[in-house]
Amino acid sequence: MKIEFSSLPTILNGEICQLQKDYTIENIFIDSRNAVSNIKNLFIAIKGERHDGHNFIADLYSNGIRNFIIDEEIKVDKYPEANFFKTENSINALQALAGYKRKNFKGNLIGITGSNGKTIVKEWLAKLIESVYSVYRSPRSYNSQVGVPLSLWHLNHYQDYAIIEAGISKMGEMEKLEAIIKPKIGIYTNLGTAHDEGFPSLEEKAHQKAQLFKDSSTIIFCKDFPEISNALHSLPKLEEKEFIGWSFEDNTSNYFVETEGRNNGTAIRIPFEEQFHIFQVPFQDYASLENITHCLLLLLHEGLPIKVIQNTLNDIKSLNMRLETKKGKNSTYLVDDSYNNDLVGLDTALQFFSQQKQFQKRILILSDLLETGLSSEVLYQQLADRIALEKLNLVVGIGSEIRMLEKFYTSDLKLFPNTASFLEYEKENSFQESLILIKGARKFNFESIVQRLEQKIHGTVLEIDLNKITHNLNFYRARLKPGVKTMVMVKAFAYGSSSHEIANWLEFQNVDYLAVAYADEGVILRQHGIQLPIMVMNPDPRSFELLHQYNLEPELYSETIFKDYASYTRNHKSLLKVHLKLDTGMHRLGFEAHEIEQLQLLLRHNPQLKVASIFSHLAASDEAMHNGFSAQQAMSFKKLAESLVDFLGYKPILHLLNSPGISRFPDYQFDMVRLGIGLYGVDPTGIYSGQLQSVSTLKTVISQVKHIKKGETIGYARRGVANEDMKTATISIGYADGFNRKFSQGIGKVLINGILAPVIGNVCMDMTMVEVTNIDCKAGDEVIVFGEGPNISDMASAIDTIPYEILTNISERVKRVFYTE
Ligand SMILES: *Cc1c(COP(=O)(O)O)cnc(C)c1O
Repeated sequence: MKIEFSSLPTILNGEICQLQKDYTIENIFIDSRNAVSNIKNLFIAIKGERHDGHNFIADLYSNGIRNFIIDEEIKVDKYPEANFFKTENSINALQALAGYKRKNFKGNLIGITGSNGKTIVKEWLAKLIESVYSVYRSPRSYNSQVGVPLSLWHLNHYQDYAIIEAGISKMGEMEKLEAIIKPKIGIYTNLGTAHDEGFPSLEEKAHQKAQLFKDSSTIIFCKDFPEISNALHSLPKLEEKEFIGWSFEDNTSNYFVETEGRNNGTAIRIPFEEQFHIFQVPFQDYASLENITHCLLLLLHEGLPIKVIQNTLNDIKSLNMRLETKKGKNSTYLVDDSYNNDLVGLDTALQFFSQQKQFQKRILILSDLLETGLSSEVLYQQLADRIALEKLNLVVGIGSEIRMLEKFYTSDLKLFPNTASFLEYEKENSFQESLILIKGARKFNFESIVQRLEQKIHGTVLEIDLNKITHNLNFYRARLKPGVKTMVMVKAFAYGSSSHEIANWLEFQNVDYLAVAYADEGVILRQHGIQLPIMVMNPDPRSFELLHQYNLEPELYSETIFKDYASYTRNHKSLLKVHLKLDTGMHRLGFEAHEIEQLQLLLRHNPQLKVASIFSHLAASDEAMHNGFSAQQAMSFKKLAESLVDFLGYKPILHLLNSPGISRFPDYQFDMVRLGIGLYGVDPTGIYSGQLQSVSTLKTVISQVKHIKKGETIGYARRGVANEDMKTATISIGYADGFNRKFSQGIGKVLINGILAPVIGNVCMDMTMVEVTNIDCKAGDEVIVFGEGPNISDMASAIDTIPYEILTNISERVKRVFYTE
């Protein structure tokens, strides 16, 4: 179905205010950073709380974008070659466009909502249905007010099924989504017990979500959640609806589902149309069983062959939905994505890829696309058009179909008939200093490519989930008054998480400032292409040259450092930005009240220095017992800073709060806040712990399992003693990795196959022994040191330290792996 720019008035409210040349619209986008120069792209300018898409029109225009939807007056004649459509509200326009696509979609549309499991249910279903039909599913978690319309935009006539996920955070949002999704079949996954800030009660939340299924003919849900059941039964037109409300608990239910654990998996017995069906699934945890039951009932309802279902179930567990970024050999980085091997999936991966500004060289390794419904001629032409926009240094195509690219793609291309022949070629280690996106359909076994290219250092990894960083960042931002900026502290290797990757992600999230402790840390960021302004808290005269060379902004905290920097910069022609630190009670660094006059004198004599910000630091922002002291600090900061502002005659940014300060003192936000540990999901005040997400997981592996006889000892100094016959596991982490020696002798516990195992004996430099007598485990099994199991705060308190130390002590030899959804 084609949509011409000139036909927009028949679909949307509003009018064309400039039409230069009519184009067929192939892609829509709302994020200017995802712009790819193509005359068939349409940019919808949306005004958000922090961003206004209209501000990017000039840039986009100069990058070749020619179609725009706007909801504000702008001077369109500045853009003589572009088309403009003016509407009342751009978000409504986006939704209306999507609704139009939906109306013309003739396949079966499955809508999914609920508190947890939406994405997983969507992915599993797609995988299961795909073995028989052509399926479209919304990319990653595109489930919001703008995500849903963007995903509906990709509906296509050749798809038999489309699976769309919908999430809401406020009252009234689901109605809007329902109006454009109009699911024929619905799955309501479950309901978390917490009632979110956006809803007055749990019942109301259940009710709001249920609105997605207002006009659905079949709804699958678990009736063990009474609120879901009630909400669904209060929908209109009940008599036209078929409810498949299944239960794990109620044996009188028509859909009473029974489960039985079997070695490493579960047998699920499901009644359907007077028959019982038994399926083997490869997991045992409750959440997975709940999710898979939704899927199985839907498949039974749609009449998929039982045999096909069972066959596909076997490899569902290995579905990796995350995009992993890891270090490769020869200074390469690998983005490993085995998700959605179709054009839309490739598009989302390429978007992520193009955000990684740190790399000059980019390589794409791609297998045949498994897009059903398009002829390979059309498919590979589209693929060639899409990747041509990325300016890649090399494309490696693997498979028999992808050869077709040769006809359409004119830049560097290397083709291999299969994965083995590529691996043979790669023995030369041909890739260096580049970012490599690896994206292959499952049957091509691209894991072997990842394994080959990956840099293997050590069995211990720190996994960092970038989406959770975004969540935490947004959580704190939501607490800021309008206009308050965010500086993020990425000192100490970004609290152990590896700074340039985090900084690049933050740059993409539009934070305003970064800060590091030392000049060298700032240099690393600049060398990786970070362009945000960077404050250096502890500049040393020996590093002034670096500051200058890399455009880093020093914190000046004393007369001495001020004079040093002033004399270094005296003959500079341009203005140099500096930050003034005031000591209001922390007594670490900073000018004190009695030095302000001297500071003013220094400023007067050094007009080459421009004060970018003035700040101070609270000594005990996390502790209520010191509230009085914090208030006093804030008052004296305000007074001193204001006298400096008066003196300067211009207004630098004022800032005071760190993460616990943001949690506790909304009144002291001034112009900017300095977010640190909160970004990583740790709230030292404990107030918001439940609402932050833990960003990092420290994992290692078991090297050996041993059986120890009663009376024998374990480890150095024979500190571990077997009081009974016992089983131990030696794990590959020690104090040199940052696993503190104080975790010795039972103080530390790690998670192995779901069960906590205490440390036995002393922690060694590179290894630790833990007791696993009652745990079914073997060499090679994964060990979680912290993350979902033991959390950083508990670990810290067990050895009488703070989470900051646990995080920053993780040594550099531990490999960092980054994830995005
Ligand atoms: C480290 C640091 C912060 C951030 O502190 P968190 O408690 O991690 O949020 C803020 N300001 C200054 C001056 C810092 O040194």
